[in-house]
Amino acid sequence: MDQLSIVGGGIGGLAAALSLGHLGSTTQLLEQADLFVEVGAGIGLGPNALRRLQDWGLDKPLRSRGFIPSELEVRSAHDGQVLGVLPMADDFQRRYGAPYMTIHRADLHKVLLDAVQAQGMSDLQLSKCLIAIANSADGVQLTLQNADQSHSSLQASALLASDGVNSAVRRQLWGPAGLQASGHWAYRTLMPRHLLPAVWRSDAMGLWLGERLHVVHYPVSGGEWFNLVVLLESADQPSGPGWDQQRLPEQTQADLHHALQGTTSRLQDLVRMAEHWRAWALFDTAPLSSAQGMSQGRVALLGDAAHPMLPYLAQGAGMAIEDAQAFAKHWHQAQLNPQQRLRAYADERWRRVGRVQQRARRNAQIFHAAGGLAWARDWGMRLGGAWAMDQPWLYAY
Ligand SMILES: Cc1cc2nc3c(=O)[nH]c(=O)nc-3n(C[C@H](O)[C@H](O)[C@H](O)COP(=O)(O)OP(=O)(O)OC[C@H]3O[C@@H](n4cnc5c(N)ncnc54)[C@H](O)[C@@H]3O)c2cc1C
Repeated sequence: MDQLSIVGGGIGGLAAALSLGHLGSTTQLLEQADLFVEVGAGIGLGPNALRRLQDWGLDKPLRSRGFIPSELEVRSAHDGQVLGVLPMADDFQRRYGAPYMTIHRADLHKVLLDAVQAQGMSDLQLSKCLIAIANSADGVQLTLQNADQSHSSLQASALLASDGVNSAVRRQLWGPAGLQASGHWAYRTLMPRHLLPAVWRSDAMGLWLGERLHVVHYPVSGGEWFNLVVLLESADQPSGPGWDQQRLPEQTQADLHHALQGTTSRLQDLVRMAEHWRAWALFDTAPLSSAQGMSQGRVALLGDAAHPMLPYLAQGAGMAIEDAQAFAKHWHQAQLNPQQRLRAYADERWRRVGRVQQRARRNAQIFHAAGGLAWARDWGMRLGGAWAMDQPWLYAY
């Protein structure tokens, strides 16, 4: 029996453990943190991700923690005019077999963790930080650092690395080059929805497009919280990808104030209502151009470890969930050896995720456009309406 180790217990690693368990595979999941916790704020799950989560039996817990927005309403950040509306709830259910859901990352993580624990097919080990890996024709040898700083080693038939955007496995086996600071930053905050003026309490998802910035908001946590994100371009150098860049509150306010100049006062008033912001420096890599970018011998990458992307298509977690389902399917091809199974997974996934990475980069230009391009975008949306905004290639997958 081939022993599979998974490194990284975020959304991607847990989704993989769950999907593998559903098909009858046991796994060992190694997570560096002392506790399984997830930080962050809201994320959107397209029907492509939600259908897979439903297949794993998670519809009920997700619906009790998530929120189903009625529609996506796109506006000009400059004057607040509506550019287009995409109906989502029932329309998406009809067209794509699942609605669009918004959910706090911590809630999604908890739903996955509970399901993996209830399933009992995965040996979850905390305080195990992977620090080195040897990938040979016979197996993989992992060197781990434990909570007391001691080291231990572990042998497995194959490794699935879901260790995030800063993946140690990707750096070690694929080389340190590739991860790039995009010059884009996300400022995220959550506010109790009942404290907001009525105009901000609709069930729609809002997207406001401006010059060198955009703003996204939607309800999460069953509608209790209002998730607000300002995505802007800045020349500031980040210390690395991830949460809580060293930004003083007054720096944050100055960044937001500067970026929102020239936008409608309605948007500026909303941003001023929020007190606690967290900054996330956005990094990505060039879109995947071959299966080698996702598997090498007995090691495969999944989620952000494989394909860091800008959140401008709202699909990072969605792609990790799709990866997880595809990986489990190929790991079950008993007639293949582990290298072949991992390669079959990468062969299936690289074009799809490469396309999503590329479209996320393109959206950065379109969302933040100025001048003629912004004018063409706005008229394209006004004339094309829902048809111009929908993305069947993404959601029907
Ligand atoms: C501003 C912003 C908005 C976003 N919005 C959306 C959205 O709307 N929709 C969407 O689908 N996605 C969105 N995303 C992306 C999404 O959050 C990520 O793509 C997703 O969480 C990636 O999951 P992951 O499991 O691959 O990585 P992570 O969640 O980063 O998990 C990696 C795990 O590996 C562990 N780990 C790391 N190194 C080691 C090691 N050496 N040894 C052991 N363990 C290790 C970490 O502790 C962590 O638990 C957004 C991202 C950002 C920044």
